[in-house]
Parts: sequence; C-alpha cells; structure tokens
Amino acid sequence: MSRIKAFAAYDAASPLRDYEISRREPGPHDVQIDILYCGVCHSDLHQVRNEWGGTVYPLVPGHEIVGRVSAVGSDVTRFKVGDLAGVGCMVDSCRECPKCKKGLEQYCDNGFTGTYNSFERNGKTLTYGGYSKVIVTTEDFVLNISGKLDLKAVAPLLCAGITTYSPLRHWKVGKGHKVGVLGLGGLGHMAVKFAVSFGAEVTMLSHSPSKQKDAERLGAHRFALTSDSETLKSLAGYFDFIIDTVSAPHDYNVYLNLLDTNGVLICVGAPPDPAQVAAFNLIMERRSIAGSLIGGIPETQEMLDYCAEHNIVSDVEMIAMQDVNEAYERMLKGDVKYRFVIDMATL
Ligand code: NAP
Ligand code: ZN
Ligand code: ZN
Repeated sequence: MSRIKAFAAYDAASPLRDYEISRREPGPHDVQIDILYCGVCHSDLHQVRNEWGGTVYPLVPGHEIVGRVSAVGSDVTRFKVGDLAGVGCMVDSCRECPKCKKGLEQYCDNGFTGTYNSFERNGKTLTYGGYSKVIVTTEDFVLNISGKLDLKAVAPLLCAGITTYSPLRHWKVGKGHKVGVLGLGGLGHMAVKFAVSFGAEVTMLSHSPSKQKDAERLGAHRFALTSDSETLKSLAGYFDFIIDTVSAPHDYNVYLNLLDTNGVLICVGAPPDPAQVAAFNLIMERRSIAGSLIGGIPETQEMLDYCAEHNIVSDVEMIAMQDVNEAYERMLKGDVKYRFVIDMATL
C-alpha cells in the first residue's frame, strides 16, 4: 500500500480539497500509472454533489486519465514502464457475463467497477479516480495511448470521446444522415467532431448564441439556437438522429419533434430527474428515444486508435488542481471550451 496525494469532495456542498488515499501495490496483472492529466466531466460534478444519489464520501472523482506507466506486475504483457496509458470510466467488471464476454463491460450484468465511487470486485475497497497522482488498475482495463497526439487533449477521449463515439457507431451514423448535436460542452464538441468525421451532415443545437463560431470551427455544418422558436419550427422533422448531451432538465418532446420518420433521439446527457415524454411524439413518426452508456474496453481502444489515425482530440482548457471548484461553477454556466483538464503536476 502506498499513500497517494489526491483531491476529494468531503460532502455534497463543500469545495473539494486535499486528501490522501491508499493505492495497492501492483499485483501480477496490475499496471501502475503516474497520472499526467485528468479531464473534468460533468458526471464528476453530478456525483460530487450527489445529484444521482449513492455518493460515498470522501469522493475522489476523475475518469479521463492519461499518464505514464511507472510499474507493472509480473504477468502484465501489454505495458512496460515508461509507456503511455489511459484509464476511463471503468476499472473492472465481472468478466463472465454475456455482456463482458462481448466487450460490453459497461453493461455488465453484475455491475462494472467504476473508476471512482464504486467498490472493487472484493466488495470492500472503494475506488478513487484520477484527481490523484497515481492509479493502480488491472491491465485489462488500461488503454494504449498513442504518443502522436497532444496528451492533455487525449484525456477527455476516455469519457467524452467514447460516450459519443459509441452510439454514433452503434446506430451506424455516417454519410447521408442528418445529425443534430444538442448541447455544446465536453460531450457535445466530441459528438460534432466524430459525426463530421463519419460523414454526416451536422447541426449544432445550442442554447448559447455565443457558441455559434466555435460550433462551425469544430466542423458543424449549421448552428441552430434552441431558444428561438422559429428556428425550431423550421427544423421540424429534419433529423435522422439527435444526440442529446444536455446535463440539465429539458423537454425531450421539443427535440423528438425535430426527428424525421424512424428518427432516434439518443440520450447521453444524464439530468438527475425523470422527464415526461408524450407517446404521440413517438407514435406519429415511428420515432424512438434511446440511451447509451460510455463504451466497452475494446471499443474505447478502437476509438483511441481512430483518433490517433484521424488526428482527433478534445479542445481543452488546462487548469490547476486547486482551480477545480471554480471550473465546476463555470461548467454549470456552460462556460467551458470545451473540456477542463487538470495538470496533475499542480497537485
Ligand atoms: P458539459 O460540458 O457541462 O456540457 C453540457 C452542455 O449542455 C452545456 O455546455 C450546454 O450546452 C448544455 N446545457 C447545460 N445546461 C443547460 C440548460 N439548463 N439548458 C439547456 N442546455 C444546457 O457536460 P458534459 O461533461 O458534456 O456532460 C453532459 C452530460 O452527459 C452530463 O449529464 C453527464 O453526466 C452526462 N454523461 C453521460 C455519459 C454516458 O455514459 N451516457 C458519460 C459522460 C457524461 P449549450 O450551451 O450549447 O446549450
Ligand atoms: Zn465522464
Ligand atoms: Zn459482466
């Protein structure tokens, strides 16, 4: 066991501050990673403030982790000391159920082990995330990271990247499809990049007029202000898919009505409260509303390799560890361009 510097939430209301955690000595299958960068996901904020329920304090968030391997167990084959490595939202799963066998560990029948706010398979040891200096994780949940890309801008791919890549692949989004991306934040800006890269026609649906230029710079073919009822009227029945990344409560019916026949509203944003959907908005055009959770380990590696090949990274604003509380407030206001990433050297 080693003692590791970390940053934690002690309760739902106080600012995060210094904390010290234990990490196990690497076992035979473990990889120990010195964390260089960790992205700040809106899910960190939801869980710090216990908005989804079930938060165990002190909570060390962070599941967009990139670093360098500093030790490996005797049976590790894919990593050696000095390699770049990444950890996303999961650090283990049961590995036996049909979902795990298919590489869909995020849907593990026995529950995956989250990178933080979760219990290891022993049911006793609480997991701690990437707002810390070091992480020790089983090799099977560690991702290979290419040295070709800007490392700090790679970190957000481990959650924001895979969460948007996975549904776009699942629904085979590409050439000939009209895609709307709702909400231009961490997930939204990656959804735009991937959907454009896959050949779709992409419209940014945002409630922030100030983001129009950025949406276009990110590759969106058009921008629509969701607070403008005339604009929404003109887009009725327009889209094949809308990928909804909004973190706050909003009316799904408004966006269902922008879908064409057979259109799918794909929810990845996770507002805490349930919403009401009118059956007729689904029935009339045979529309669906669907959800998608991060992505499995094989697909996460596929996404990272795709990004290395196509030069895709996140647009990041670097922050010091101590600035994370302010970053949360800015994220709540939609003032993030388009992912905060913590430089772990500042911890
Ligand atoms: P983020 O960077 O804060 O972006 C959210 C965006 O939603 C904002 O930039 C804003 O875009 C829009 N928005 C925020 N408040 C709004 C409001 N009151 N009304 C309308 N639009 C609003 O958050 P993120 O990190 O991308 O995460 C987004 C959501 O996805 C969170 O709920 C997070 O927990 C969830 N998530 C889910 C998964 C999954 O596996 N499904 C994985 C990661 C994250 P505009 O200014 O452009 O409108
Ligand atoms: Zn996340
Ligand atoms: Zn499983």
